[in-house]
Amino acid sequence: MLAVKTPEEVYEIIKTEFAQITDRTGRVAYTEAAGRVLAEDIRAAEYVPAFNRSTVDGFAVCAKDTFGCSDSIPAILQNAQEIFMGQAAGFILKEGSCAPIPTGGELPEGADAVQMIEYTEDYGDGTTGILKPVAPGHNVILKGDDVSPGRLVLRAGRKLTPQDIGALAAMGIAEVPVVRRLKVGILSTGDELVSPEESPGPGQIRDVNSSLTAALMEQFGAVSVSFGILPDQEELLSRKVQEAAQECDLVLISGGSSVGVRDAACRVIERHGEILFHGIAMKPGKPTIFGKIGGRPVIGLPGHPVAAFFITHIFVRRILAQLGGYELRDIPVRACLAESVEANHGRAQYNGVFLEDRDGRIIAHPIRGKSGLITTLAGSDGYFCIPRDCEGLPADAEISVTLYSAG
Ligand code: AMP
Ligand code: MG
Repeated sequence: MLAVKTPEEVYEIIKTEFAQITDRTGRVAYTEAAGRVLAEDIRAAEYVPAFNRSTVDGFAVCAKDTFGCSDSIPAILQNAQEIFMGQAAGFILKEGSCAPIPTGGELPEGADAVQMIEYTEDYGDGTTGILKPVAPGHNVILKGDDVSPGRLVLRAGRKLTPQDIGALAAMGIAEVPVVRRLKVGILSTGDELVSPEESPGPGQIRDVNSSLTAALMEQFGAVSVSFGILPDQEELLSRKVQEAAQECDLVLISGGSSVGVRDAACRVIERHGEILFHGIAMKPGKPTIFGKIGGRPVIGLPGHPVAAFFITHIFVRRILAQLGGYELRDIPVRACLAESVEANHGRAQYNGVFLEDRDGRIIAHPIRGKSGLITTLAGSDGYFCIPRDCEGLPADAEISVTLYSAG
């Protein structure tokens, strides 16, 4: 058996063993790009806005005509022609005059500010009173204020948000270079497993890991392909794993990752490829296998759903980022531990938590329960880690929580 690795060593192995895949990019319509990872920097090619625009309903003016005016001594300006939405202003505003303009309307040449309609008075004789002065640029967005050509707007590696899609739309970028969705093959192994749609017979349980890991892949932006629930038959597993490794960028085998005679994952990976290590010094999740078949990562996950979940969230998420050539945006939350947590020596311990916002203080309630119980994880918000050399943490200790919602 190969030496057990610490979580930190596993991070290093991920960096050195799994290279960014070469055919990682594709293009999608900007309307389809939310949640996708940008493969190249996006720079503006045009001015946004493309013309000077008013930000309010009011009157376009030459600011200096309004200097010193007030309610009692309005600046009296000649009405120029009205400006309409979606049309060029089409004239030059002369000094001493003002032009009605809607929010978003184009400022005429000569105008450098807009006064809100609330601070104006229509005299009905072709003149308008301005009751409050405006400085140049007031209530105006200038051409290129948002972006000008060449400006870096979105960086490669960013997971596109709805507001990013808005920026792409504003810039007229209709096609977006994205990291293609990586394909992950999922196999569940175990003689005791039945599909969740079936009623388990004596000694049988429902397969949790196929759907659990598939949902995680979806959350991480990958596509999952199920290769089924397999009995503990080495030859069958061997064929399916080989098939999955040919078709997919990464393969997850759940169950059979320990060292028992029925535990075939290790032998099967070795038969078609190589084992990088077997075992991580962490709880839960110790019986984990990292291997490669044809250069592609093949991960043997522990069968315990909670352990499978942690390994997938902590490590497989990183492998996907490495293959796709993007960075993870993990911003941990500092929280205060609600009660003490003991840790067992020699292994890093990962604990799920529920977070509570208590008047602005974030309190983390650690999840109690045996590692095999999936319901102890359901509905929780994230996890924290107690390092291997630490005997536990007292109540009120400050901890750093990684949120499950992290991309
Ligand atoms: P194994 O890693 O195959 O030794 O399995 C460890 C424990 O996890 C056993 O109690 C299995 O019944 C359980 N288990 C294995 N695979 C799954 C699965 N896909 N869904 C739910 N429980 C599983
Ligand atoms: Mg098993």
